[in-house]
Amino acid sequence: MQSIKRNILLNPGPATTTDTVKMAQVVPDICPREQEFASMMKGLREDLLKIVHADPQKYTSVLFCGSGTINIDVCLNSLLPSDGKVLVVNNGAYSTRAVEVCEFYGLPHINLKFPVDQLPDLKVVEKTLQENPDITLVYTTHNETGTGILNPIREIGALAHKHNAIFVVDTTSTFAMRPIDMEKDNIDFCMASAQKGLMAMAGLSFIVGNRAVIEVSKAYPKRSYYCNLYLQYEYFEKTGEMHFTPPVQTIYATIQALKEYFAEGEIAKWERHKRVFEAIHKGLDELGFEDVIKREWQAGLVVSVKYPNDANWDFTKVHDYCYERGFTIYPGKISTTNTFRLCSLGAIDVEDIEAFFKVFKDALNHYNISTPVKY
Ligand SMILES: *Cc1c(COP(=O)(O)O)cnc(C)c1O
Repeated sequence: MQSIKRNILLNPGPATTTDTVKMAQVVPDICPREQEFASMMKGLREDLLKIVHADPQKYTSVLFCGSGTINIDVCLNSLLPSDGKVLVVNNGAYSTRAVEVCEFYGLPHINLKFPVDQLPDLKVVEKTLQENPDITLVYTTHNETGTGILNPIREIGALAHKHNAIFVVDTTSTFAMRPIDMEKDNIDFCMASAQKGLMAMAGLSFIVGNRAVIEVSKAYPKRSYYCNLYLQYEYFEKTGEMHFTPPVQTIYATIQALKEYFAEGEIAKWERHKRVFEAIHKGLDELGFEDVIKREWQAGLVVSVKYPNDANWDFTKVHDYCYERGFTIYPGKISTTNTFRLCSLGAIDVEDIEAFFKVFKDALNHYNISTPVKY
């Protein structure tokens, strides 16, 4: 096997992958309408349910060809009855994306905004549900990847169910990283993409959701042709295939990634992400960097770091210095504060973070940015 340069991606996905996952894409050409391919997808869909401990009688997984945002689009446009309303519990950029999807489709919705560095106030969520009995779908983001804050999904889900609404959660940056349990976490629909927690390639996204709710949604207004959840579900039920061409090679990579996921194990993998996260914090603390979100509220996967107050600080220059040496750091996603992000996703471990901080320190010295950094 040819050796492939190993880059350490500290951006929030696509993540660093193993060589075995990369090479799993190099296979004989196949038409994805062959039975062989459909049976591969069947196993893949069952494995996705296992990751979130979903009973296959009650839940199913539906695959789409696209990046993670397709899941947000599909869930919102497909799961709203004609007289329903969406409540988006919004404390960050990814829930804001869901609000934008509602705006594009003209879906009745409430954008319940909270500050990006604060947890949503559950009392306000409950009051909003009480005052708006037409809310049929409550939506939030598990780990707001823009800041790294972990939202209390179990509690929000309980409130949604108490008020007869379904609960849809964007778990793109927690699925297959932080343990999730559909039933215990009160989730009706969750979602992710292969290039994030699963450490596979971009191009495959999936929704895990409640079968009965999807069946009922057959009668809901159809607002998209390509991105309708019921149509894709029904096609899988009838044929075991995707309605249109699947991302063939990405599916091979994802199947290999799932093997590696189960070999590593849910808990061991989460422990690894946590120790990578701790190593990121240790490195940042030593250099005096400050993060945006209270430490105890962070999900353990994204650290959002404030730009230091130093005339020589230049994110692009520091990024380029690290990038040339095989380490990718990522800009922030908070409109009001200048930040950058370091993430613990991917097939990396503590020694990769230690190697990164050597290079990062060199970059700071190289550009005469004084350490410990000042604010
Ligand atoms: C990555 C991510 C997405 C999907 O983004 P794409 O650019 O479409 O892949 C959606 N939600 C969250 C929370 C994410 O981290």
